[in-house]
Amino acid sequence: MGKGVYERLIGEFARLPGVGHKNAQRIAFAVLRMEPERARKLGETLIEARAGARACARCGNLASAEACEICNNPRRDTTRIMVVEDPGTLYQIEHTGTYRGLYHVLSEVFSPLEVMDPSTIRPEKLVARVRDGEVKEVILATSPTVEGEATALYLTRELKPLGIQVTRIAYGVPVGMDLEYADEVSLIKSIEGRHAV
Ligand SMILES: [Zn+2]
Repeated sequence: MGKGVYERLIGEFARLPGVGHKNAQRIAFAVLRMEPERARKLGETLIEARAGARACARCGNLASAEACEICNNPRRDTTRIMVVEDPGTLYQIEHTGTYRGLYHVLSEVFSPLEVMDPSTIRPEKLVARVRDGEVKEVILATSPTVEGEATALYLTRELKPLGIQVTRIAYGVPVGMDLEYADEVSLIKSIEGRHAV
């Protein structure tokens, strides 16, 4: 058998981040065991989600309209902005349910940076949000990696002159770990233990 549809299916899943070949096989076989109707719905959802996906004009989060659901939610605390590297980290933090403020996503979905490089971060949008808004605190929640620390340091220098509180999350997560893969308890501890910089 050549490179048939099953191999292609496994190959596509294996290319997704954090899946790996073994899990890709498991997912592919789960798809093959589905009712045809459910598989069709899955395919349609994939197409629909991808076609409608865009970056929020305010914070860079995934959105299906001009602004994302978080920016549009009147119950969010608009005095706080948490800076995260990517939408994956944002969803992790949202999942903990402990943070009610807004976000700023550095690496937007459609221009993902391979590594956080301070020289490629354009802080103007964040600075503008702090200037026009009622922001009192910016929480720097970049990963405790070399790049994440450099980014936090760089943003601190840009934000401090604006007269707001700039805080850095604590090391509830191991040094060198990408926040996107941190467990919930560690994330909550990191946010609660944040300190002024
Ligand atoms: Zn948004």
